[in-house]
Amino acid sequence: MKKNITRFILMACAFVFSIALVLSCALFWPMPKLALPVKYRYVFIKSINIVDVVSGKTLNKRDILIRGNTISKIDTSGNLKIPLNALVVNGSNKFLIPGLWDMHTHSNQFSEWLHHPLYIANGVTGIRDMSGQLGRDDSYWVGSQERLGWNSEILENKRISPRYVLQSSYQIDGRFSVPDGYPSFFKLQQIEDVDSLLQFYSQAKVDFIKVYNRIPAKSYEKLLSKAPKYGMHIAGHKPAEVSLKKAIVLGQKSFEHGRLFLNESSQDTIVSLLQLMNTNNTYWVPTLQTLKFEASAHIPAFTNNPNLRYITWIQRALWWAPDVNANRKRNLSKDGKGLSTIFYNTAKKHIKIADSIGVRIMSGTDVSDSYIFPGFSLHKELQDLRSCGMSSLSALQAATINPAKFIGNDSLYGSINSGKIADMIILTKNPLDNIENTKNVFGVLFNGLYYDAKKLEELKAFTTNASSSFHINVKLFFSLFNSPLIRVQWAD
Ligand SMILES: [Zn+2]
Repeated sequence: MKKNITRFILMACAFVFSIALVLSCALFWPMPKLALPVKYRYVFIKSINIVDVVSGKTLNKRDILIRGNTISKIDTSGNLKIPLNALVVNGSNKFLIPGLWDMHTHSNQFSEWLHHPLYIANGVTGIRDMSGQLGRDDSYWVGSQERLGWNSEILENKRISPRYVLQSSYQIDGRFSVPDGYPSFFKLQQIEDVDSLLQFYSQAKVDFIKVYNRIPAKSYEKLLSKAPKYGMHIAGHKPAEVSLKKAIVLGQKSFEHGRLFLNESSQDTIVSLLQLMNTNNTYWVPTLQTLKFEASAHIPAFTNNPNLRYITWIQRALWWAPDVNANRKRNLSKDGKGLSTIFYNTAKKHIKIADSIGVRIMSGTDVSDSYIFPGFSLHKELQDLRSCGMSSLSALQAATINPAKFIGNDSLYGSINSGKIADMIILTKNPLDNIENTKNVFGVLFNGLYYDAKKLEELKAFTTNASSSFHINVKLFFSLFNSPLIRVQWAD
């Protein structure tokens, strides 16, 4: 008997030890690395059709010389000299558009492997990330310091990642979402906290404060009036305690998500709010894909998405599957049936009105949320904007020139002109004829490097392998588990 017990204990110890050994091997297993394309001093694109996203015209048969990461010359004569040792890309019967920007994403410590390759493979060359930290490095979320570091490595061609075009604070949500032990000014419970918060984030080189629903009205007002003095602006949700009219007048620069007008009582009110947004230069990022997910979670043809191969088991099991179940249940219940579809379709109607009034709309996806796939979902968002009744040109503008204007740098980004940064996508068909053509990517030029079709496939395969690898799933699990910010967000 005693012998048996000893044997059992020994076996149990061996089992626990082996599990611990496997997990620690996974935690310390080196992360894979992606090779960048070969660098050429010049890239010469021969005889391509440029889609001018400002005028809506297609400019036929242009030769384009790119030096470093900048468009040096655009020629119509056909006599432009090809410099020695330039990479020559045959553009005949192809179409060139500016790199697309996703203006609502959430990146994390694993984005290098799970997000960035997919963005570039889909021609997404700029993103506005809407997450941040609270002054301490987080095991899961990234902050301005990481993102600014990535940006400088992009410039040196040491990293494959879209440009992080603006730096966000952590989501500021009143006394919520701040774990114990962090400075209390993050909760904005007193008006005096506003200066401390702005000082803190201006030192962290943050460009905007991302606001959430539960900020006290007084702190919100003060935040709006003080932020410009620190060179910052406000973007995010509309706080519940403040009317949308007031938030627009106070100067919030962008509002996120498609539910923005769902609580407004009449069509007239919505029209007048949209007119106010137009005159105040307020942007709207409807992130329709999140509403589409909620409306479609019970449909197997929607949930059996082949792009799931790019998503880790951990994210699917801990986050997406429960979300699918909850939404499926609601969509199939007596009370909830059809409700999410109504929200989705109503948001689309609002977008059509907004566009006809002239409100600046930007494409955003909310990457990290359920069934949002980095890069791929941006093309879906453009198709959805088109299906609201926006023209293909307006949909393209939402991902190019509008974001460039939003960040105040349309002299360098957002359209194809000499002197601008040459982040561009070569397409096999014209997206002005059909917006779905944005997904027919032939090649991507980013920061002076050319990603041809083979390289783009390599990027996708890299993320497929990374997301299914045991060690990355283990690392991701521990990073989520160790993040106080995640714990408080999930408990909320
Ligand atoms: Zn978001």
